[in-house]
This record gives sequence, C-alpha cells and structure tokens, in this order.
Amino acid sequence: MPKFAQVAIALPMDRIFHYRIPENISSEIAIGQRVFVPFTNRRVVGYVVGFSEEAEVKEVKDIEGIIDKDPLLTEEMLKLTKWIKDTYFCSWGEAIEAAIPSGIKKGKKELGTRIKGVAAQAEDFLITGKHKPTEEQSKALKSVIDTIDKKEYVTFLLHGITSSGKTEVYLQAIDHALNKDRQAIMLVPEISLTPQTVERFVSRFGDKVAVIHSKLTPAKKFLEWKRIKDGKASIVVGARSAIFSPMNNLGVIIIDEEHETTYKQDDVPRYHARDVAEERAKLNNCPLILGTATPSLESFYKAKHGEYKLVRLTKRIDDRLLPKVKIVDMRMELATRKKIAIFSKVLLDAIENTLKKGKQAIIFLNRRGFSTFISCKSCGLVLKCKRCDTVLVYHFEEKKLICHYCGYTQEPQDICPKCKSGYIKYLGLGTERVESEISRQFAQAHISRMDSDTTTKAGSHDRILGEFKSGQTSLLVGTQMIAKGLDFPEVTLVGVVSADVTLNIPDFRSSERTFNLLTQVAGRAGRGEHAGEVIVQTYAPGHYSILTAAKHDYEKFYEEEIKSRKELLFPPFVNLVKITVRARNDELTLKTAQNLADLIRGEDKEAKVAGPAPAPISRMRGYFRYNILLKGKDRTAMCALLRKVLGSFRKPHGVLIAVDVDPISM
Ligand code: ADP
Ligand code: ZN
Ligand code: ZN
Repeated sequence: MPKFAQVAIALPMDRIFHYRIPENISSEIAIGQRVFVPFTNRRVVGYVVGFSEEAEVKEVKDIEGIIDKDPLLTEEMLKLTKWIKDTYFCSWGEAIEAAIPSGIKKGKKELGTRIKGVAAQAEDFLITGKHKPTEEQSKALKSVIDTIDKKEYVTFLLHGITSSGKTEVYLQAIDHALNKDRQAIMLVPEISLTPQTVERFVSRFGDKVAVIHSKLTPAKKFLEWKRIKDGKASIVVGARSAIFSPMNNLGVIIIDEEHETTYKQDDVPRYHARDVAEERAKLNNCPLILGTATPSLESFYKAKHGEYKLVRLTKRIDDRLLPKVKIVDMRMELATRKKIAIFSKVLLDAIENTLKKGKQAIIFLNRRGFSTFISCKSCGLVLKCKRCDTVLVYHFEEKKLICHYCGYTQEPQDICPKCKSGYIKYLGLGTERVESEISRQFAQAHISRMDSDTTTKAGSHDRILGEFKSGQTSLLVGTQMIAKGLDFPEVTLVGVVSADVTLNIPDFRSSERTFNLLTQVAGRAGRGEHAGEVIVQTYAPGHYSILTAAKHDYEKFYEEEIKSRKELLFPPFVNLVKITVRARNDELTLKTAQNLADLIRGEDKEAKVAGPAPAPISRMRGYFRYNILLKGKDRTAMCALLRKVLGSFRKPHGVLIAVDVDPISM
C-alpha cells in the first residue's frame, strides 16, 4: 500500500502536492480519482496523479475523502493534461479542470441519472443516407480508412475548396470508425454558427451523436458527458473543449475549418485544440483530419514538409463553378464622386439586379455598430473609452457610445468635451449603418442583420437564418458570423463592403485572416444552380491577400505570405510566447516588464527576446499593458525557462503577468 498520494490542484502553482493516505481509504484510492484535500485553511478538490513512498515535505496532511469511486480521469487523460501543462504554461490541475465538465469541478457527486441526450431530443430525426463518393472523395477516404484499420496515427490536411464535399468525407470516415467499434470526435469552430453541419451529423447518425456547446447548462453538459463516458454516444460534435470528451477507443478525430482562431482558448490553460487533438490522436493511434478551404500557414507548412499528409479536393460537387470575384477600387469611387461612398455603383447595381431576379444577397462587413470613429472637426479630439485605449463606437439602436473591448457606455455627444465646439462628426461605418443605408436605397427589400448585437437573445441565430432560408428576407447584412458554413442555394451575390477592416489590424496574421475571411464569405455565393458573383470593395486593391482570394488561389497566397513570415521570423518558422505584464500604474508596469525581460535575456540561450513594448491596445479596463515576446523552436523549453525565471521573480504588488504560448493575436 502506498503511503502518499501525489495530488494536482487547480491553482496557478507549478507543483504537485503530497498528502497522506489514511488507512480507511487505502484500499479504494486510485489514480485519476478526485479527492477532497485540505489546502491552507480550505478544503479543495484535488486529482490523484500518482503515489509515492516518500513525501517531499515534513508536514504532510491527510486526504479527507474520495469523491468518486471510479476514477474520473483515465490514464490517457492524465497523459494529455500533463502534455498541456508542459506545453502551455499552466499547472497540471488547471489543465485537468479544462478537460472535465464544469458541472463536476466543485466536487459534486454525480448529478442524477436521467440520461437523455441533447441531440436525441430532436425527436424523429431522419437517418439520411450517404452519397456515393466522387473520385477525389474516394481517394481521400481510402487514405483515412487505411490508417483507421491499421491503427496508425497520421494527421491529414484535407484541403478542399468550399462545397467540395469535405463534410461527406468526415461523415463516411466516422461511419467506418463506428463499424470498427471505435468512436469519433468532430470539432467545429462554434456550434451556433454551424447549425447546418450539426444537423447533418444528427440526421446521419441519430442519437449516437452527442452535441456539446457552450450554451448548455452545466447539468446538461454533464449528462452529455456521461452519455459519452457510458458508451451511449459514440460521436461527439462540439467546439474546442469537446476534444476532451471521455471516449475510450477513438477511431478518428476531425477538425473542421482548422484555421479558425476559436480553437485557441484565451484563458488559462491557453491551449490550441488542434495541437491537443494531434497529441490525443497519437495517444489513440488514430488519424486526425484537419479540413479547410484555407489552411493555416502552420498546417500547410507542415503538410509541405511531410509532417502532415496533404489530401486535396479540387472540384466542387456537381462541378459547380466558384463564384467570379470583382475587386472595386474605392479610391476611384472617391475620385469620381468626390465623397466617401459606402457602396460603389457596381455593388448597388448588383444588389438591384439580384432583387429583380428574386434572388438573395449577403452583405458583409466585419465591424458592428453605426459610426465607428467619432471626432471633433475643430480640435481633432477622438472620443475614446475611459478605461481602454480604444475608440468608442456609436450604436444607433441603443443610442449609446460603446467600447467594444470592455463594454463601457456613455451618452452620445454633440458638443466636444475638450473645445466645446459643436463640430462633432460621426465617421466610419459598421453593420448597423450598412443596414440602414441599404434600407434607404432599397425601400422595398426585406433586410435582416446578423452580428453579436442582434444575436444576444437565445434563438435569434436560428430565427434570422430561418427567415433568410425561407426567403422572408432577401438581404442579409452581417459580420464574420455570416461568413462561415452557411449553405443557401438562392444566394447569388456576396458584397464585401470593406475588405480593409481586417487588413489594417496591426498583427502578423492580418493578411492571413483577410484571405480566409474573403475566401469563406465568397464561398457563400453560387451554391445552388445559379452562378454566384462576389464584389469586394477596398482601398488596397493591389494587396496580395485580396488579389489571391479573388482568384481562389490559396497556393499563391501561401507563397507570398510564407516569404514574409520567414523574413520577419514568425510562425511557422518559430513558436511565439507572449508575456503580458499589466497594472494600473503605467510606470510600474513598464519597469516590471523591463526587469522581467532583462532576467529572461540573462537566462536565455536559444530563444530570441523582444520588448517590452506596449500592447497594440496599450490600456484595457484601466490596466496598462506591455508585451514581451519570445521566439524559439521549442515550446516546452521556453516554458521551462519561464518557470525558472518567474519562479524567483519578485512581482510588485498589483502587477499581473500572463503567459500565452502560440498567441493568436498580440
Ligand atoms: P464542404 O464540406 O467541402 O463544403 P459538403 O460535404 O458540404 O462540402 O458538400 C457540398 C454539398 O454536396 C452538400 O450538399 C452535400 O450533401 C453534397 N455532396 C457531398 N458529396 C457528394 C457526393 N459524393 N455526391 C453528391 N452530393 C454530394
Ligand atoms: Zn474639439
Ligand atoms: Zn473600454
């Protein structure tokens, strides 16, 4: 009988704690169980990760009790969470808590026994048949199925243009895994934005599917989790955290739209679900399929260098053509009309034509609100948030100025708070303004808008999309929410009001994001019998992101972008670790960040260290923020180095430090 248990606790402390195992539980205790342990003056939940004969400290306390008889965590989950701890700079306990449903974190016993799946409530679902695969699909499937049969780990990058039949490949790969008594995880960027994909899984596999998403209550989440653990559901469709589903015999893992940034968690543990999936596929000896029309630079680079296996779908199903994309140079529009126009004549004519033919259009602008920039013409003052270094955005419906970063609101102003002049101008446009301008121009048309302002109420997503699908509305205005996954055959026109919104963000991924968004949104046009047309308005018509997206040429985009990544030493050539130091006092924040950067430079052999530099948003919610950036080839080594430095770093009172491995943005 072991004397001591090694216990992980979900605190930001890089260590495992030893507790004595009292005699009365020594025959029951097992690795992977949750236990109650005393910690300082509290009783907390811990996770047993190992046993030992010796304790590393003299004063060892007793375990107070075992929470669940059957271990909650399998050996696989322990390995996976340990890998997360080593890779993403968090404690083992924090990694474990990310991997279990929130309903049982607090140490509650099992929550009840009535188990009916969420998906199963979609009552009389129809089990729909599969399609006979096309030649390209067959080839892709064969490679995947081979690895399922051989129980081999391989990551496939399934690069297929929109509507080329990727989802059908996922469905049939899963079907094969199920026939071999194995299970499947299917990750989607966000459940609420991909209702059609989820529908297809439920209609193909019925109640074998568990759907996990953030809007489920903790109790419902737990029930789905239990259904999976008990083997009643063998397919999980879910967002990021579904990668931790408690399957015991995975046959395939799939990540749809692998380039999406929602796969990165922005809180501790800041893991990337793609990398966790890769690790999990290795532990299960099963394939991982990364599907996308616009691979992330990281994934395509790996595919080019043989780390991933590249599989291509180059044709749309039924040989439908990709839509023609027209770029409109808004500088010319400005020159001929002598004023800033929201819509070019080309776009207005196209909308009119679409409406005349009884077809539908999607109008895209990746910025919400009415006026996005408010300034005084007399003294030049720009209205900014009191707590952040950001501009305030005017929202017409709420009649408020709102900060999009912290939610701060204030009344709109007509008098300049600085020079008291009456020359306050409301400039810049968001989706609200686009919607109002369109309804002015096309008074007869039925228009709806989809962005995070119109979708706060439960069910509003479904309502807006439902009305569009049924033809009640003919124009849909929206942000990136409408760029993905929607399949409406009557949409023949996509208008991009400004491609420059994402292009102008100061971030090394802005070109990639622009290319992705344009490609995705363009893919919404011409999915039915009628050819689609896309009109892209921009002040940067010569930019390669826009030119290559207009030609549907990913490889050309990759060639351009990879050059600049190499030159500037950004991923995929290095991994980044971003350290953000923040405090309410600017001077203290900078000083602390400088001291920390000096210490890292002193310790560092391999990684390059840059900064500290002010974060792109240098103040947020009243906190001044400075970034230190590490560039290196080995994430684990960089984390180990930071553990060492931060372990002995004397952080002044009131200063917070966050570490983000492979950050999505600066
Ligand atoms: P993607 O995921 O690449 O956008 P989908 O798998 O959604 O593509 O396929 C696009 C459309 O074509 C869907 O309506 C799907 O049902 C249909 N489809 C897919 N594969 C086939 C096939 N082999 N034969 C006929 N129709 C297919
Ligand atoms: Zn002024
Ligand atoms: Zn703010």
